[in-house]
Amino acid sequence: MTKRLLIRTWGCQMNVYDSERMAEVLAPLGFGPTETPEDADMVILNTCHIREKAAEKLFSELGRLRLVKEARRQGGQEMVLAVAGCVAQAEGAEIAARAPYVDIVMGPQTIHRLPEMVARASRAGGLVLDTDFPEESKFDHLPEARAQQGVTAFLTVQEGCDKFCSFCVVPYTRGAETSRPAAAVLAEARRLVEAGAREITLLGQNVNAYHGEGVGGLAGLVRALAEIPDLARIRYTTSHPRDMGDDLIAAHRDIPQLMPMLHLPVQSGSDRVLAAMNRGHTAADYLRLVDRLRAARPDLALTSDFIVGHPGETDADHAATMALVREVGFAGAYSFKYSARPGTPAARAPQQVAGDVGDARLAELQSLLAEQQRGFNAARVGQEFDVLVTGPGRHPGQIAGRSPWLQAVHAEGPQGLEGSIIRMRAVSATANSLTCVLKDRSTPLQEQHAA
Ligand code: SAM
Ligand code: SF4
Repeated sequence: MTKRLLIRTWGCQMNVYDSERMAEVLAPLGFGPTETPEDADMVILNTCHIREKAAEKLFSELGRLRLVKEARRQGGQEMVLAVAGCVAQAEGAEIAARAPYVDIVMGPQTIHRLPEMVARASRAGGLVLDTDFPEESKFDHLPEARAQQGVTAFLTVQEGCDKFCSFCVVPYTRGAETSRPAAAVLAEARRLVEAGAREITLLGQNVNAYHGEGVGGLAGLVRALAEIPDLARIRYTTSHPRDMGDDLIAAHRDIPQLMPMLHLPVQSGSDRVLAAMNRGHTAADYLRLVDRLRAARPDLALTSDFIVGHPGETDADHAATMALVREVGFAGAYSFKYSARPGTPAARAPQQVAGDVGDARLAELQSLLAEQQRGFNAARVGQEFDVLVTGPGRHPGQIAGRSPWLQAVHAEGPQGLEGSIIRMRAVSATANSLTCVLKDRSTPLQEQHAA
């Protein structure tokens, strides 16, 4: 490796996946990783446009990098500065105007063209802008080899969205919904497993709308993945309540590799707000769905996303959200204050909710959700379950892992068990993690693993 590459990633797991792919397409050009901008021959900022602050963070980060780029140039070294992801897609012109020292602006669908862009930027100078939605899929043009090796891996199976929720930029930045053919997904999954992955999380903006050639829907894909020997755990995110079909619910009942955890964003508990959001379901629809899922898989934990302060949201609407949260009982959640995104219908709606009202509602909701998360973790104490060991723990003699419900686990134990699935018992819980002991210390670990 002769050149150094720094990639900073904001936003969802799909951006994490894209960043890994970008590192892979640049590796044949001689780029290897660095964590320090001062050493970097190329910096890519992979951005998220979902909320306002992310774009502002980008511009302050660019301001800092400009100084590093100038200092490097004075020392006779160049730095190619690229902005990728959804902010680049939506605000390419603004980036060019506010940060003319940026060399490349590229959307999420053109990462396979990165080597060509780097060559053009180095040759010609000036801005290389590529925010097309190309006819060809990036997935068909990305290298097969996955450099990343790890016990857990992300795998993007579906991109884009046709649902047009009132508040959301995704349909504009990631484009129309497309699904990768099952054969391509299965081949990538096999490669990941060969490289050591035991848990794969399938990614999509609307992953349960997956309709890839070869298997029909997501349930078919999960069933096909469950046939891969050594793939012990399967997850998928993010799902839309509208696309939670009978076959997928049945998969939660039938497929042990499918982990008992589902991220199912509801956004609001008020039917008026859900209609204004164009979500296509009511609070009662969501509650019925939760009942059916829990009937299929009684240990299923649910997490969700919420937006407070959507235009038109009243105190009564907010109370309906609080009531829904109490009724469902979530294991965790992301909750946000509504942020007006340019070009979306909600940004143009009258009755925008005052900022301080949104803050107060968010604080109330977050305190309830945090209490539920602590309660969910505390309820694991005394229980036994399988833990996927992901590596050494923070302290000597500790190992780290993941519970079936995606809780971080710490335990005293021997090193070298990475990738093993070990039966453990939780002895204490915090808001974000569990401390466990190996199930029966008198049983040799090999036997525990086999059990
Ligand atoms: N497709 C997923 C769904 O329908 O639930 C969500 C994808 S979105 C990338 C992730 C989350 O960001 C959303 O669930 C929503 O809660 C939040 N979000 C999206 N737009 C937002 C906005 N304008 N203001 C605040 N939060 C927003
Ligand atoms: Fe955005 Fe709605 Fe599509 Fe989710 S379903 S990505 S919130 S438009």
